[in-house]
Amino acid sequence: MLEGTVTTTQEAIDLEHRYGAHNYHPLPVVLNRGEGVFLWDVEGKKYYDFLSAYSAVNQGHCHPRIVNKLIEQSQKLTLTSRAFHSDQLGVAEKFLCEVFGYDKVLMMNTGAEANETAIKLARKWGYLKKGIPANEAVIVAVEKNFHGRTTTIISASTDPVATTDFGPFMPGFQIVPYNDVEALEKALENPNVCGLWMEPIQGEAGVYVPEEGYLKKAEAICKKNNVLFMIDEVQTGIGRTGKMLASDHEGIRPDMVILGKAISGGAYPVSAVLADDEVMLTLKPGEHGSTYGGNPVACAVAVEAIKVLQEEKLTENAEYLGQIFRARMAELATKSELVSSVRGRGLLNAVVINDSEESSTAWDICVKLKENGLLAKPTHGNIIRFAPPLTMTEEQLEECCQIIERTIEEFQK
Ligand SMILES: *Cc1c(COP(=O)(O)O)cnc(C)c1O
Repeated sequence: MLEGTVTTTQEAIDLEHRYGAHNYHPLPVVLNRGEGVFLWDVEGKKYYDFLSAYSAVNQGHCHPRIVNKLIEQSQKLTLTSRAFHSDQLGVAEKFLCEVFGYDKVLMMNTGAEANETAIKLARKWGYLKKGIPANEAVIVAVEKNFHGRTTTIISASTDPVATTDFGPFMPGFQIVPYNDVEALEKALENPNVCGLWMEPIQGEAGVYVPEEGYLKKAEAICKKNNVLFMIDEVQTGIGRTGKMLASDHEGIRPDMVILGKAISGGAYPVSAVLADDEVMLTLKPGEHGSTYGGNPVACAVAVEAIKVLQEEKLTENAEYLGQIFRARMAELATKSELVSSVRGRGLLNAVVINDSEESSTAWDICVKLKENGLLAKPTHGNIIRFAPPLTMTEEQLEECCQIIERTIEEFQK
């Protein structure tokens, strides 16, 4: 082995295992190149990517326009901190506000940080505007949520894997069942509630799409009770579900939109919260921030990544291909004992495997899919998420459906 390089799958896996924390359980594949919808491993095998780095790579791997912006800006200026202005920040802020239709944006780096920002904004607004007594603010979240890994965020998690042995937890969250309007009505009557916080489709939980009308009703309940609707579109946003935001499917306009992942097309960590002045201007200088948040590279990359999405009509493509994919998988479910159902929107879909949550069947199918040239990962137990880059063509999707069908068929033997 050359110093600093790995040439085989096993070498790379051994190194990670020996020197890295074991906080992930990756599929045994070692990647070293990506282009569009394809990934290559260190042995030169080519794969279709059906995870897109958890929907961060909607624009396809190493999109030339995004990569060029990254190079261009990083040769000019990478970081000023927010102690000074930059010629990129205002431009990106204006662009993001116009694209999403909000007064203001606050840029951070990761999805978790953007959610943390939204929590702070909701509380601040709750005290300054709603008149909630000091330190009494409550944020209502839903069961099976996923908003990131910080200690505050996991305080609202209902997943024991995310929370066990990480207490004590942050107070001020109330959890209600997802997709349950009555529970919302009841919870939001509490005058100390400042925010209702949820994903429009629960990605990590296994692509749970709420009943039609749920988000619209939730929005109305928020309005009625003077509560901010905080929508986490980190995974569902930026075209993934066949609309720019998954919220657009129900025509809602949340008080806060939380973005991350594909806002940079996978090239750089960028996240953001969008809100109107009444909420955003409750924050005063010094009260919140991040050294890298809104740095010039992040700004240049985010603007380009969204322009790529718009100009290549990737959102429309996600809607179109999503219909085809779900129809094919629904057909597979009628033919195969192993597949129970398919659900999702646009190109964020999940296939439910007909086995128990604890079984390794979904994992074993993903290993087989890998051998057949397609990379996907189980989410929770028996659910496989299928989320290719939105740059996929119909012909490529056809080939992928055939790989999935063939793999399921082989697996049954
Ligand atoms: C991935 C994800 C996050 C966390 O983003 P990080 O960049 O990993 O911190 C938050 N919310 C949702 C819905 C996500 O899918």
